[in-house]
Amino acid sequence: MTKTAAVIGHPVSHSLSPEIFAYFAKVTGVELKYDAVDVPPEILAEFIRTQRSRPDLIGFNVTIPHKEDVMALLDKVSTEARTVGAVNVIEIKNGRWTGHNTDILGLQDSFQLADLDLEGETVVILGAGGAARAAAFAAAVEGAARVVISNRNLIRAVNIANEFNPVFSDTEFLSVSSLHNFADEEASLIIQSTPLGMSSVDDEVDEELFAALLNGPKAVAFDLVYRPEETKFLKIAKRNGFQTITGLSMLIGQALATWEVWFSPLENREAVRLGLFDLLRTRLAGQK
Ligand code: NAP
Repeated sequence: MTKTAAVIGHPVSHSLSPEIFAYFAKVTGVELKYDAVDVPPEILAEFIRTQRSRPDLIGFNVTIPHKEDVMALLDKVSTEARTVGAVNVIEIKNGRWTGHNTDILGLQDSFQLADLDLEGETVVILGAGGAARAAAFAAAVEGAARVVISNRNLIRAVNIANEFNPVFSDTEFLSVSSLHNFADEEASLIIQSTPLGMSSVDDEVDEELFAALLNGPKAVAFDLVYRPEETKFLKIAKRNGFQTITGLSMLIGQALATWEVWFSPLENREAVRLGLFDLLRTRLAGQK
């Protein structure tokens, strides 16, 4: 029987997942039918209920706005996903539905690819949404000593710090409402996790602040936004001589991890990664 997977969200028409998973199927020879299904929030529970009897399903990618609400509808949620508070992948095995968060793995994979050693380092995160929570978790798992979460709505940053401090005894999580309070500190890694810089969002990047913040001798700038791949934040970082990581790295890292949750470890992982970079760069260039 041909296996089936899908991305569920609302809307989903913008999702790159169908192309990413068609590529995986092509290069691995696995027969996989992959759909994009628009599921409005009010029918999420009913949708999951109706899918339970399908023997062909191996899992789902879950995107906005279902990453939190879907957790209550599953048989099991991984500890990581529960701590981050979001499921982006469902694995279906022997009728059991398990929620995972492969965004964390995608972030760790991106750090490793960039040869970043976060042990004992300070990481600054801009934003306090779902992506920021995964980033804070990933930084702590990689041994960061301090994670500073900066968000205009301070309470969301405070909440992450309050939730994560008891979980990670070797990492101190701090929250600030403005990085102006932090601009003379040194950070090894700055992760931009707000939608600022996206093609569809007015670009109001505070150039002066970002340039001031990238003040550590080893600082790396990582923008989770991938449309466009080179955001204003990354251009500023490059101009200041810092290493950069693009949002495509995380997108591809989480996709590789998702494939490996559903199937088995990829033998030609690095070749597949490069193929996905090519595919997605071409695809995004076509959208300009
Ligand atoms: P989210 O949960 O909606 O959080 C958005 C965050 O950005 C919030 O902290 C919000 O602050 C902040 N923000 C929004 N507009 C802002 C503005 N004009 N100025 C300052 N801060 C602003 O979104 P998310 O799921 O975390 O995703 C954030 C971004 O990460 C997305 O736009 C996407 O591009 C990127 N992302 C990339 C990947 C990848 O694989 N590369 C994966 C997930 C997400 P408030 O709390 O104050 O509203």
